[in-house]
Amino acid sequence: MTTELHEPFDLFIIGGGINGCGIARDAAGRGLKVALAEMSDLAAATSSASTKLFHGGLRYLEYFEVRLVREALMERETLLRAMPHISWPLRFVLPYHADMRFEGNTSVSRLLNTMMPWMKGRRPAWLIRLGLFVYDNLGGRQILPGTTTVDLTRDSVGLALKPKFLRAFEYSDCWIEDSRLVVLNARDAALRGARIMVRHKVVSAQREGGLWKVLVEDLESGVRSTFQARMLVNAGGPWVGDIIQNIVRINSSDAVRLVRGSHIVTRRLFDHDKCYFLQGQDGRIIFAIPYETDFTLIGTTDADHPDPAIPPVCTPEERDYLCRFASEYFRQPVTAEDIVWTYSGVRPLYDDGASSATAATRDYTLKVEDGDGTPLLNVFGGKITTYRRLAEAALAKIAPFFPGLPGKWTAGVALPGGDFAVDGVDRLIADLCAAYPFLSAPWARRLIRAYGSEAGAVLGAAGTAAVLGLDFGATLTAREVDWLMAEEFARRAADVVWRRNKLGLRMTAPQIAALDDWMMARRAEVQLAAAG
Ligand SMILES: Cc1cc2nc3c(=O)[nH]c(=O)nc-3n(C[C@H](O)[C@H](O)[C@H](O)COP(=O)(O)OP(=O)(O)OC[C@H]3O[C@@H](n4cnc5c(N)ncnc54)[C@H](O)[C@@H]3O)c2cc1C
Repeated sequence: MTTELHEPFDLFIIGGGINGCGIARDAAGRGLKVALAEMSDLAAATSSASTKLFHGGLRYLEYFEVRLVREALMERETLLRAMPHISWPLRFVLPYHADMRFEGNTSVSRLLNTMMPWMKGRRPAWLIRLGLFVYDNLGGRQILPGTTTVDLTRDSVGLALKPKFLRAFEYSDCWIEDSRLVVLNARDAALRGARIMVRHKVVSAQREGGLWKVLVEDLESGVRSTFQARMLVNAGGPWVGDIIQNIVRINSSDAVRLVRGSHIVTRRLFDHDKCYFLQGQDGRIIFAIPYETDFTLIGTTDADHPDPAIPPVCTPEERDYLCRFASEYFRQPVTAEDIVWTYSGVRPLYDDGASSATAATRDYTLKVEDGDGTPLLNVFGGKITTYRRLAEAALAKIAPFFPGLPGKWTAGVALPGGDFAVDGVDRLIADLCAAYPFLSAPWARRLIRAYGSEAGAVLGAAGTAAVLGLDFGATLTAREVDWLMAEEFARRAADVVWRRNKLGLRMTAPQIAALDDWMMARRAEVQLAAAG
């Protein structure tokens, strides 16, 4: 059944991952009339399955991806300042050992094999130090400290490692709560006038009379609507190619390369707040990162993925590979029994014809198809780290179709809840505890890390925990879930416990099922009230 025909929007965006939501926020802030449709939850696909780093990507230097690394390095501190609740600096310990090898086909390894064949593919310490020197200085740093050398026989970060690791380098990058980043961009876009629709699938889009006619199905009600728009943005992530071929139905030589990456989460493996950057004998690297206080996050892998319709999962081979890799470093072997959760995502990389999944470019590519003044913008690749720059580049492509469009504005403008100093989290936590004395310290920290300066708005005028309503477990209350449904587009329990927070690691299956039932009933109640 097809119902209403809406007034034309300027931009219709397909995809509520970081790229779609980043573009929606930037465009809405410039005064464009924006609609965005996401067929699942915000960040349900790749943008909640990353390693969660705002980083330059040290290893991309080996592929001479200098433009990408420089842009990402410069971006880290801009982003940190705009969202100090969901992003924070991290130190990375890179243990050095003579066994370390380059991946065979990087630009640097080819150069080194020609110039210094006796190295037989080894990554010498001086080259790693040189790479870190470039990393420290390529993008400019004001907040993040530079590289240092660590004596692992004396420093506490050496305790968890095998005794053969004597020396390490330590450098800086940043953490980012990836799915909250997406949601806060969507929330900010909505506050600036964008229409954000979750569980709405774009079924077809065609040009007609100088406008796009976009057929959208509400997957909850089954109702179909047609939206009109002057320009269409395809930010479908892993589905970008599918959208070109089957939804917009145009011929295009641009293709996407789907590369799966999996992570394992174990009980906490070490007792400090630094991460490990581990180099394998196969030339790949993985990270081991302190995660959600009580856990360690280990990843990632690189494997070609055949089809976006196949949900990515961490295969037993990937699980064993990550356990084996980490066990090369840690005194205590990492085994499948240590794993409490796994997740997997698909990188939607621009297909540059690279031989291996690891070598395929991580840079983004934006392609505009003019279509006689009814343009389409296709988005390929990109990193979480470069999403804001990608959005600016997208708006530069969009601008010629909207004369008089204002210029860039997002650098230096905080995301919701992020309007406080980069080192101001402890102060906010103390203030929240003073205003709500019933909060435990971990509860207050969790709320500030999620909502920043908006945490008080989430709790409202509550004088006791009981006023916050039902307790679903792990400090999640009805008041907070109401906020997530009203302000952050959450519909189901999984949206809350895996993407608005990570309480799924602490809640039981019956608790999550009870939350889901409650949310369904609550939504029906709200819809009924709105109808009546
Ligand atoms: C394992 C892994 C680790 C990574 N680690 C990092 C990292 O540490 N740092 C970093 O900077 N980057 C990292 N990345 C890269 C980063 O995660 C991705 O580049 C980014 O999330 C891609 O976002 P996107 O918006 O393009 O895609 P997505 O997040 O996948 O969003 C696309 C959305 O489009 C929706 N959609 C598709 N078709 C339709 C339709 N017809 N109608 C409506 N909606 C539709 C989908 O449901 C999906 O939600 C990593 C990626 C992976 C896979």
